[in-house]
Amino acid sequence: KQEQYRALRDRPSKTRDGADVALMLNAGLLVDLPHIRETGAAGVGLFRTELQFMVASSMPRTAAQQQLYRAVLDAADGKPVTFRTLDVGGDKILPYMRAEAEENPALGWRAIRLGLDRPALLRTQIRALLNAAGGRDLRIMFPMVACVSEFDAARDFVRKEHARLVKHGHPLPSSLQLGVMIEVPSLLFQLDEILARADFVSVGSNDLMQFLFAVDRGNARVATRFDPLSPGFLRALAHVVGRAREAGTPVTLCGEIGSRPLEAMALLGIGYRSLSMSPASIGPVKAALLDADAAELAAFIEPLLARADGACSIRPELKAFAAKR
Ligand code: PEP
Ligand code: MG
Repeated sequence: KQEQYRALRDRPSKTRDGADVALMLNAGLLVDLPHIRETGAAGVGLFRTELQFMVASSMPRTAAQQQLYRAVLDAADGKPVTFRTLDVGGDKILPYMRAEAEENPALGWRAIRLGLDRPALLRTQIRALLNAAGGRDLRIMFPMVACVSEFDAARDFVRKEHARLVKHGHPLPSSLQLGVMIEVPSLLFQLDEILARADFVSVGSNDLMQFLFAVDRGNARVATRFDPLSPGFLRALAHVVGRAREAGTPVTLCGEIGSRPLEAMALLGIGYRSLSMSPASIGPVKAALLDADAAELAAFIEPLLARADGACSIRPELKAFAAKR
């Protein structure tokens, strides 16, 4: 199988009916980067910057952050990399950062909330990113945005750090794109505002599922209780991709559901054309998509999503459909 997947590496990532689908990697450490070449991925759709912070025994300094980001861009061979700012707090506790115990860490003081309340931390990271990307394209994405004003505030930090570089005559990124993770359900009802502001968005289906269904993604007892291949969840995802397309804002999905072939085909069917996933999934997902017909998938899935019988999963139907091909 591995050999088979490797043989697909240089095949254009297209369905049988010619729909281009960008397959990208989720990464978090420098050692993940060679997978771009091994898998033929279109780039890094999600670089989880918190990994560097979580494996360190003290807060990584600006220079260390900058060095990592530069090395990542070097290793990406000119392919796009989307750096997500620190997603710590809640259950991703940094041993060297004092944190109060929280009763509901997933709903707590984490990610962009922590970054906006501790501007030195977020601005240092932004500075490191801007410096690392001198002369190259830079994409920065903010996690756990729940309200449009949080993106505005984060964007303002970037603007200030950018102005600082200009003032000191430092090299600037050749382009700068700022994006938002769609992973807190409140954003589903502020899509027009967020899509008008962001250069791109990326659906974090892991957290979106956790918050929409109120299931703790880390609690094995309930984590798989509900199927992401349910009309309810897929309607939410379809809503995002539809609005993004109308707004002309690029949209990717970078949660785990894009890593599984059947789920990825459902995402194709509802209109996603860019997925970011764990490196080992690129081969299997690519094999499935080379064999798929996007228009056929769309026609198959549309009535399944519209049906009103209260079914909580359309997995059996999708499986049967996939098996027939
Ligand atoms: C997500 O929430 O789907 C996501 C991609 O981010 P993380 O898994 O790091 O929370
Ligand atoms: Mg998340």
